[in-house]
Amino acid sequence: MKIGVLALQGDFALHTQALERCGAEPVLVRKPEELADLDGLVIPGGESTTVLRLMDAWNFVPAIEKFHAAGKPIFGTCAGLILLARDVSSPSQFSLGLIDVGVERNAYGRQRESFEALATATLGGTPAQIELVFIRAPRIRRIGPGVQTLVTHAGDPVMAQQGTVLVAAFHPELTADLTVHRYFCELVRSARQRTP
Ligand code: GLN
Repeated sequence: MKIGVLALQGDFALHTQALERCGAEPVLVRKPEELADLDGLVIPGGESTTVLRLMDAWNFVPAIEKFHAAGKPIFGTCAGLILLARDVSSPSQFSLGLIDVGVERNAYGRQRESFEALATATLGGTPAQIELVFIRAPRIRRIGPGVQTLVTHAGDPVMAQQGTVLVAAFHPELTADLTVHRYFCELVRSARQRTP
């Protein structure tokens, strides 16, 4: 099972390690044609404005839309969530709109630009405590009717899913815990069974 990690900018390297530890084969993606034989895609954290500029330069948008339309799962963390959201504010910018959520960039306040927290999550199995690392994180301000909230922190949704699109405001790749990556790998595995 091959899972791509968009490697234009940001912390893609740690995602590849986490995916490998889950038993998947991670592939760094730097050109749209490299999506062709992949089963899933991770869009890592970074600076969404910079990633957008590079996505534009390489003409990634239609390729990712096609990937999604083919039923292949996509997981966006932090800047990746911003890129996948339907609406982006503060400031507003183009986004793929593949999940019906509204996000506000850098919305956790100055003094808490980066922080850690714990949450209890039930991701496909028994409830487990997971560590949440937020780095200048976006806040999910709106959850559309077709979107399922998977993890909350202080009353806010911080991980959500709509069909094959999974998003997290935090950085699971910065902890040793594989719960979140395992959940995504499971999503990829079941999507693969549906569309051989
Ligand atoms: N603040 C960044 C942005 O707005 C996201 C930060 C991150 O991915 N850690 O794009």
